Amino acid sequence: MVATRAVAGTPIDRRELLLRGAAAAAAAAAARVDVGVSRAQLRPAAVRRLDAAVRGAVAVPGRASYENARRVYQLAGPRPRPLAVVTVRDSTDVEALMRWAAREDVAVVARSGGHSYIRQSGGSGAVVADLSRLRNVRVASAAAEVEVGGGVQLIDLNRALAARGALVPTGSCPSVGVGGLTLGGGMGLSARRLGLTCDRLVAATIVTADGRRRRVGARSDEDLFWALRGGGGSFGVVTSLRFAVHRASRAAWASMSLPWAHADEALARWQELAPAAPRALTAILSLSAGGPPQVSVIAQHFGSEAELRRLLAPLARIDGASLSTGVDGLLGLARRWAGCLDGPLAACHTQGTARGGTLQRSSFAASSIYLVRRLDEAGRRALLARVASRSGSGTVILDAYGGAINAVAADATAFVHRDVLASAQVLSYHAPGAGGEARTWVRGTRAALERHGARGAYANYADARLENFEREYWGANRTRLREVKRRVDPDGRLVFPQAVGT
Ligand SMILES: Cc1cc2nc3c(=O)[nH]c(=O)nc-3n(C[C@H](O)[C@H](O)[C@H](O)COP(=O)(O)OP(=O)(O)OC[C@H]3O[C@@H](n4cnc5c(N)ncnc54)[C@H](O)[C@@H]3O)c2cc1C
Repeated sequence: MVATRAVAGTPIDRRELLLRGAAAAAAAAAARVDVGVSRAQLRPAAVRRLDAAVRGAVAVPGRASYENARRVYQLAGPRPRPLAVVTVRDSTDVEALMRWAAREDVAVVARSGGHSYIRQSGGSGAVVADLSRLRNVRVASAAAEVEVGGGVQLIDLNRALAARGALVPTGSCPSVGVGGLTLGGGMGLSARRLGLTCDRLVAATIVTADGRRRRVGARSDEDLFWALRGGGGSFGVVTSLRFAVHRASRAAWASMSLPWAHADEALARWQELAPAAPRALTAILSLSAGGPPQVSVIAQHFGSEAELRRLLAPLARIDGASLSTGVDGLLGLARRWAGCLDGPLAACHTQGTARGGTLQRSSFAASSIYLVRRLDEAGRRALLARVASRSGSGTVILDAYGGAINAVAADATAFVHRDVLASAQVLSYHAPGAGGEARTWVRGTRAALERHGARGAYANYADARLENFEREYWGANRTRLREVKRRVDPDGRLVFPQAVGT
């Protein structure tokens, strides 16, 4: 490992930049990236060589394109200050960028949809490989597989596949990038039936730190392929992903609200029902504060509406529960869960990332933890008390696992959380620059769940304040991830706050 790297003329302490090792320092280290190297700039000659090396647009401080190019979804915290953002045209551009970065000794980070909770693709102190132009979605003729550019947003993948009567299980936010989602896992309302997004990955094209383009899959660089399924963006820039698709045209949906007075009963019944239900059903329960506290459940079922009602009956029987159900086509379902059911489809993109996009960026604090066993009465009481006492924004979202997610062995992919009942995501929105209280509530709520037996964390719900992020995200798989990292990126070229260490 190189001890010190000059960012094209500006000396930077590698420990400042790489944020490896002691994960307890992750939060502080993340802040150091923003502050410590914020004045670092590429030398004009390095910029000229970069301009000459790639065909894509290069945005650097001082160019008009820079302000827009450095925007990411998360508004909380200091604005990222990348050395440059290169909107690459294709894999060849990424190869050229990597070779340039090696010559100049500059760090690189990939950006797909830019939705990292802690701005891991913001690229402060590094050059961002912005994949947003790689938006090709090509369905193979037999429609058994789909090849997807590394910058495709989920709504565009959902749309292209729905038109062919097919789907890949994805998350629900329409403008999340398929790159980040897949590399971290990918949880959504089809997951108990079809697995995580990463479980459907059959091959990927990746440009590694040495500037080599590699096609990886089950029979080609199996280790790297393993790491890409849950291990995140530490191993190179993934320019293309190939997924096995599932043939379907429709599914049943449900949306339920339950009175807070029966929140404990709802939580207890949901815990019994959702993680052990037939695979066809994925159900998510939310507890929300910020006004009168609320309990709600959404669910998707690959089966009939009547079956779905039967499966949810234990919840629907609770006094005061109100249940709506229906059946919809795949695109309708994707739009429903995305919260953009009405209006033109183009609106389901983040403003400025695609023509017609209307979704607003936001500012929030978040964390996650896994329920490895059911919360007992004391655990449920503690969780409900956290929500009930919160006057500001606060939500705990319980995603049921089990089914196809847990059918995969914990060491078969880098995504390790295969024996859990549910993930609990703790989320609080706040005004940019005023997140202290939100962070405190998120932290306290996660700690309450931890005291009642929950553990681990989901890498895609990245939290800069985790004490040991590698252990929380990847558990026993972190050793093999480090081995792969050492092999494909020995100098730590791919770097961001919670990258896998060497
Ligand atoms: C509003 C919202 C809703 C969400 N809903 C869900 C959900 O339903 N289910 C779920 O599982 N997650 C969900 N997430 C979390 C989401 O999966 C992660 O934030 C994910 O990492 C975002 O991917 P991205 O490509 O948009 O982000 P980016 O910020 O571009 O990337 C995230 C990380 O992945 C790396 N990366 C991205 N693309 C590549 C690539 N091609 N090659 C190498 N590295 C790459 C980046 O360097 C960075 O480290 C949601 C996030 C938001 C903000």
